[in-house]
Amino acid sequence: MKYRIILTTLMAGSLLMAKAQDKAKPEDTEVWDPIPKVVTPGEHCGDAPSDAIVLFDGKNLDEWVQNSDGSPAKWDVHDGILTVNKNYGNIETKRKFTNYQLHIEWREPSDLEGEGQGRGNSGVFLASIGKGDAGYELQVLDSYKNKTYTNGMAGSLYKQAIPLANPARPDGQWQTYDVIWTAPTFNEDGSLKTPAYATVFFNGVLVEDHFELKGPTLYIGKPQYKAHGPSPIKLQAHGDKSKPLSFRNIWVREL
Ligand code: MG
Repeated sequence: MKYRIILTTLMAGSLLMAKAQDKAKPEDTEVWDPIPKVVTPGEHCGDAPSDAIVLFDGKNLDEWVQNSDGSPAKWDVHDGILTVNKNYGNIETKRKFTNYQLHIEWREPSDLEGEGQGRGNSGVFLASIGKGDAGYELQVLDSYKNKTYTNGMAGSLYKQAIPLANPARPDGQWQTYDVIWTAPTFNEDGSLKTPAYATVFFNGVLVEDHFELKGPTLYIGKPQYKAHGPSPIKLQAHGDKSKPLSFRNIWVREL
């Protein structure tokens, strides 16, 4: 008896739903507000759209400082590109960011020497949280037929995330990173509220898919979060013996 009542009630319910669906109009599920803001895209894929903050357009390093002391960035600007100057260490943006979309292009010199981690090593720290290599590093390395530990190749979040594929081009060719960075958030007592996530396209190929970071990237040891706020984006002057690589067309859209 009890089951018959339940069955009858369920049948009546689905009948009502079917009737409601019969009466539904296409307009019922249309959303007209809010209206997305208008953004004029760049002329070519990879060009900065109208709402981007251009961090390097080939002319100067006005948006950058030395990570060590905040003095004007001393890397070399020439022929519309930016080349690492290893004598001066890492550089970082004057501006601080939380969540963003980043586009950056890099090129290893065509007469590159060295192997493994010693072959064209640099990095994009998606958030710089201190001096030197403190932060969350998206590795830059010549990874075209250059064997190294896989969580340290180009497209890796250093020692945390192996890239999903290896779309690296040979040295001498420009390569692109397009990154979606979601900064970690912290509770008032400094404990982690939500972790950092990174999605990375390397030469247009998805290599990190909303990867959850375990903390800042470390050369040695296990990562652990430490509370921080909005942070600069930092580029690495690595101490390897390779000829320095170059960057160009760097822009960011705050999200
Ligand atoms: Mg590096």
